[in-house]
Amino acid sequence: MKKLLSLVVPVYYEEECIFQFIKETTAVLEEMEQLDYEIVFIDDGSKDRTVELIKEKAADNQRLKLVELSYNHGKQGAVTAGIHHASGDYLLYMDPDLQDPPKEIPRFVAEIEKGYDLVFGIRAEKMDTWLNKLFSKIFWSTLNRFTGLEIPKGLAVMRIFNRKFANKFMEYREHNRFIEGIFMHIGMKRTQITIQQRERFAGVSKFNFTRKMQLAINAIFDFSQLPLVFVVRFGLILAVLGFGALLAIIITKLFIMDFQAGWPSIVSTIIMGSGLQIFFIGIAAIYIGKIYAESKHRPLYSIREKTNLEEENA
Ligand code: UDP
Ligand code: MG
Repeated sequence: MKKLLSLVVPVYYEEECIFQFIKETTAVLEEMEQLDYEIVFIDDGSKDRTVELIKEKAADNQRLKLVELSYNHGKQGAVTAGIHHASGDYLLYMDPDLQDPPKEIPRFVAEIEKGYDLVFGIRAEKMDTWLNKLFSKIFWSTLNRFTGLEIPKGLAVMRIFNRKFANKFMEYREHNRFIEGIFMHIGMKRTQITIQQRERFAGVSKFNFTRKMQLAINAIFDFSQLPLVFVVRFGLILAVLGFGALLAIIITKLFIMDFQAGWPSIVSTIIMGSGLQIFFIGIAAIYIGKIYAESKHRPLYSIREKTNLEEENA
C-alpha cells in the first residue's frame, strides 16, 4: 500500500499566497507516484479571503483539507491543530508563503525513508531583511543559551516527521507551547538537510519585534527554570553583601571609631528591601500563573468548521 504524506500548513491572512502555494505543492506531490498525499490547512482566524480560497480549491480536490480555528490561536496552536488532524504516515510542516520551496519535498521524503523520525530543514541562506535576520539571531541565540535545547542553527520552517513522532508530540499537553522546544525534547532519531530559501511569495510577515520577543520569553519560561535560579542566586548574593556591610558597620563602630549611621541608610535599606521582595514575588508569580494555566487542562484549540474532514460529533 502507498504511504500517505500529510502537509501541515498554518494559514493566517495568506490570501495572496494560497493559490500559488496549492499550485506549486500539488504539482510536486502529483509527481511523487510512490505516495498518496493530503494537505491539511489550519486557518488561524483570518478575516480575509484565505478560507474562501482554500474552500474553492478543496471543492475540486478532496485531498485538500481545512480546519478553521474559531479565532487567532497563534502559530503554535495552529500547528498543533494541524498535527492532530493529519492522518499521514509522514507529516511535513511548511508555511504557505513559499519561503521554503515545495520542490524540496521529495528530498525530505527520501531522507525520512532512510529511517529517521524527524528531518529538519536548514536554510542555506536566509532571505530576509537584515532587521529580521538580526531579530532571529537574537531570538535563537537567547533561546539556546537559556533553555539548553541545542536547536540547530538556521532552522527553516519546513520539516518532516513520521507517525510515531507525531503521536509522541500529541502527548505533550502543555498550553504554553514552544513547538521547536517540544520537537527537540521528543528527540528520537533526527537529522537535517540544507534547503534553498526564497523570498516570501506575497504578503507580509506576521511576526514583528514584539511578537518575536513574546515568543522568546514564552519559550524561555516554558523550557527552563533559569530565571528562577538566577533570582535565587541574586537574592543570596545580596543577602551576603548586606550581612557583610552590617558586620563592617558594627566592627567599625565598636573597634575603630564612633559615628552616626543616620536615617538615610535605614530608608534606603527599606526601599531596596521592598523593591527586591516585589521582584522576587513577581518571578514566583510567573511560575504560579503557569501552574494555574496548566492545571485547567483546557482543550488546546477550538474549531469553527472543518472541510473534507469528519466532524466528531456529527
Ligand atoms: N501564522 C499563524 N498564526 C499567527 C501568525 C502566523 O498561523 O498568528 C502562520 C502564517 O500564516 C505562516 C506562518 O505562521 O504560515 C509563519 O508566519 P510568517 O510567514 O508571517 O512568519 P515568518 O516566516 O516571517 O517568521
Ligand atoms: Mg514566512
